[in-house]
Amino acid sequence: MPELPEVETTVRGLARVLEGRRIARVELRRADLRRAFPPDLGQRLAGATVTGLARRAKYGLIHTDRSDTLVFHLGMSGSWRIDRPELDKHDHLLLETDDGTRLTLNDPRRFGSVDLLTTAELDEWPAFKALGPEPFGLHAGDLKRRLRGRTAAIKLLLGDQTIVAGLGNIYVCEALYRAGIHPRRSGGSVSLDRLRRLAAAIEEVLNEAIEAGGSTLKDFASPDGELGYFSKAFAVYDREGRPCATCGGRVRRMVQGGRSTFYCAKCQR
Ligand SMILES: [Zn+2]
Repeated sequence: MPELPEVETTVRGLARVLEGRRIARVELRRADLRRAFPPDLGQRLAGATVTGLARRAKYGLIHTDRSDTLVFHLGMSGSWRIDRPELDKHDHLLLETDDGTRLTLNDPRRFGSVDLLTTAELDEWPAFKALGPEPFGLHAGDLKRRLRGRTAAIKLLLGDQTIVAGLGNIYVCEALYRAGIHPRRSGGSVSLDRLRRLAAAIEEVLNEAIEAGGSTLKDFASPDGELGYFSKAFAVYDREGRPCATCGGRVRRMVQGGRSTFYCAKCQR
């Protein structure tokens, strides 16, 4: 499942081929993903020039000179592909630029989404309006206010998009491990000092993954043109029973909110 680093590297990869280019052709190869494609998508995108790309939480944004923004979410299995010689049945949206580059949005499980908004209404879009701050540049004091009085486990609160936007299970596990915070500790009980360490740890684990993606992939694409997916090494995630690199104890797994949490009981308090 794509997490924030995959989305970020996808956006950077798309920027290299889309920025400043005109979209010459748009082809919808089915009517919907998780929800219907905007009915006027082709009409509004074809002929528009891409002015810039960005990421918000786990959404990618493609801005055009018509003051529109295409917002995509990769869901469980989505990816953008560049210049594949053959289309396959899971390529649901195709964009062709004026220099002949062909981009396809592939999504076998179709949990992804594509929306088209006017750039001016982005902040008011319901999915964005509810989002907390981005995980980069998090302010510990702000985090403390958001967690005040919350008795739920810090692990669950960090995955709540209204508290911090864009953090998924993997990076919450990794950041809590790095900050030495037990995933079951109640959110409101984490001191400001430890939240400072946590904010730094969140940024570190995400940046390391994004850099790994940048160095493993050529222009953020795999040899077959798929953007954003790369293998990463984790300290605790999916390492149940393996040794903790810090104390030599065993990494443990427990279930919180229906998801697996990986942690070290000795290093995290
Ligand atoms: Zn340990």
